[in-house]
Amino acid sequence: MFIGWPELLLLTAWIGPFFFVGLFTIAERRWPDGAYPKEPHLKTNLFVGGTSTLIAFFLLQSTQDVIADKLSIYDFVDFSAPVLPSFLSYVLCFLFIDFIYYALHRLSHQIPILWRLHKVHHSDDRVTASTGLVHHPLEALFIGVAAFSIYVIVNMPAGVILFYGAINSLHVAFVHSNMRPPFWLDQGLSKIIYTPSLHKIHHSIRKEEGNSNFGMIFVFWDQVLASWKPHASANSNAILMGLDETKGMNWSTKALMQLPFRREKSVP
Ligand SMILES: [Zn+2]
Repeated sequence: MFIGWPELLLLTAWIGPFFFVGLFTIAERRWPDGAYPKEPHLKTNLFVGGTSTLIAFFLLQSTQDVIADKLSIYDFVDFSAPVLPSFLSYVLCFLFIDFIYYALHRLSHQIPILWRLHKVHHSDDRVTASTGLVHHPLEALFIGVAAFSIYVIVNMPAGVILFYGAINSLHVAFVHSNMRPPFWLDQGLSKIIYTPSLHKIHHSIRKEEGNSNFGMIFVFWDQVLASWKPHASANSNAILMGLDETKGMNWSTKALMQLPFRREKSVP
């Protein structure tokens, strides 16, 4: 059976995260950064990530026609129209998708109800490649519906959406991995894209560090919009990660699923 590019990109966007988490889990065991005992949360993270992905996938599949029908009347920016040479317009679309994720991520730290969902991801105090999979199903669904709605409104070309999803699935596993690329590579990459040492700052237990570096792939949204923090207060492998409010929490699927609904006040 022949699989074409669209199917390959679709598969990579949805299943790629698990494949790349596998690769980087092997790599971080070989070249660990800091002194984690061993990947401590792998099974739970895979299960939570798998559940969230399946729920978001099926709900999005079944609702996307309805969303598209409702929103297509607002089709005011046609990125797929041949105004620019196609390569350049695709590059702009790719950057715009990255901006959408930056904005949604930043809002998830600022709006209390969204923070309740997003803090599930931040509750991991041992950030490793598989932490990239840990999102509450309701958060995965919210981000999916919000991003898809914007794609419909601006008539985003499907190929770019899939290509971004495929690249991002590799990058998410990379930035959460507990490994450090060689210094020269880290320095070079971090001028353009997020690296593990930069993303660790976003997972810091210190609020002023956690509320910075919201970008997905590219660093310049944070640089332009005043949320950029290139250096942490501690050196990279001494950053304390996680959240004060979930310290010592039993790391189980049940506890993570219930976390957004816990009674206590939750401050982003
Ligand atoms: Zn975050």
